Amino acid sequence: MYFSKYNIFSKIKNSDSSYLVNILTGNADILDADKAAEIISGNYTNIDEYLEKGYLADEAAEKKLYNSKYLDFIELRDNDEIQIFFAPWYACNFDCSYCYQAGYENKFNTPTKELIDSFFSYVTKEFKDRKKYITLFGGEPLLSGEKYKSIITYFLEQAELANIDLAIVTNGYTLSEYIDVLKTKSIREIQVTLDGVEDAHDQRRPLKGGTPTFHKIVEGIDRALENNITINLRMVLDKDNMSDLVELARFAISKGWTKNKYFKTQFGRNYELHYCQAGQSKLYSRIEFYQTLYEQIQKYPEILEFHRPAFSIANYLFENGELPSPLFDACSGCKSEWAFDYTGHIYSCTATVGKPGSSLGTFFPEVTLSKDKVTEWEERDVTTIAECKDCSLQLACGGGCAAVAFNKTGRLHSPDCRPLDELIGMGISTYMTKENE
Ligand code: SF4
Ligand code: SF4
Repeated sequence: MYFSKYNIFSKIKNSDSSYLVNILTGNADILDADKAAEIISGNYTNIDEYLEKGYLADEAAEKKLYNSKYLDFIELRDNDEIQIFFAPWYACNFDCSYCYQAGYENKFNTPTKELIDSFFSYVTKEFKDRKKYITLFGGEPLLSGEKYKSIITYFLEQAELANIDLAIVTNGYTLSEYIDVLKTKSIREIQVTLDGVEDAHDQRRPLKGGTPTFHKIVEGIDRALENNITINLRMVLDKDNMSDLVELARFAISKGWTKNKYFKTQFGRNYELHYCQAGQSKLYSRIEFYQTLYEQIQKYPEILEFHRPAFSIANYLFENGELPSPLFDACSGCKSEWAFDYTGHIYSCTATVGKPGSSLGTFFPEVTLSKDKVTEWEERDVTTIAECKDCSLQLACGGGCAAVAFNKTGRLHSPDCRPLDELIGMGISTYMTKENE
């Protein structure tokens, strides 16, 4: 019998209490200082309770449970819906201060109908028995002008013919211009980015040439919501605009967006991906990011009306009253996610799409696929990454992002670690306080 290696035991932020979580057995407890001291000393007053919850475990029995949950995970994932990204170009009308694609070749060529037909023929054949939807992204997929609009319209029509739902990732500048086409199609959601209110946003996300974009994007969001098209509003945060978060939250609340069932939100941490960002000093590490976010929420609780950050499993736990299932793999690349672009290439996901050297094959002009490369992606999970095998965070973390890990170590099967124990401590503090108010 041993203190389970899947226990996550840590302090709750700004509190004398600690928490103990075991995702494998699905148990979570808040511990006062005395109980926490028991854990640290190993002198348990009520050993049966710890045994029952799997905090103390028999290693062989635990291994069996781990294996069976792993098989459940794989089965669920194999039946999961897949998200297929398509980049019709990498051209963009914006000049964002932090674009990770800034170093990509920025061709303004549009794909031919023949290439789009090949894409749909590949997708309908290769993913025939999978539930799926397509996400259009770029560059900027909704560029202005007939040349772009006509090919995007053709793409949307082909998706409709193939009976595949769509999502779109756009900077939102031309959303109003495209609403007439979009409202006739089956669009699951449109992701749009605002990085603050007027000045803060316009400084970070102007048009090429410097024209401000805030008001046109807001108009596009309003028009989409009027037409019952779901908007997923993303705010990309770093040290330059964290203090603008509360203003954007208040703006969204005042517009009535946060009460609209077609409106949702997400935060993106601005981080170093493939190309060096001009000002790396403005980037937060993951822990700094959540720490600052935590402090902002303590100061301005209305932020939670705008967005409830996950804080790893903490938000899930408070919203659902139970822990999520074990996460053996956080990376969907080549499993439930693929990406394709206008050059005819196939990639694992959005983090690698268009990146030189990352192509796994082609769908146009001919179909080729490197089985070895795909297998390497498919096999990556916490059971194949040596560092993850004995990590107590593994079932909350899932090994992180393969692309980030590869960029760091040159190996796909290497870890992208996350300080989840601290994040959970901040999350429990955030949501426990709010719940008790
Ligand atoms: S490599 Fe990173 S971005 Fe790509 S699917 Fe995996 S986790 Fe997501
Ligand atoms: S990536 Fe790092 S934190 Fe995550 S499970 Fe692996 S070793 Fe643990």
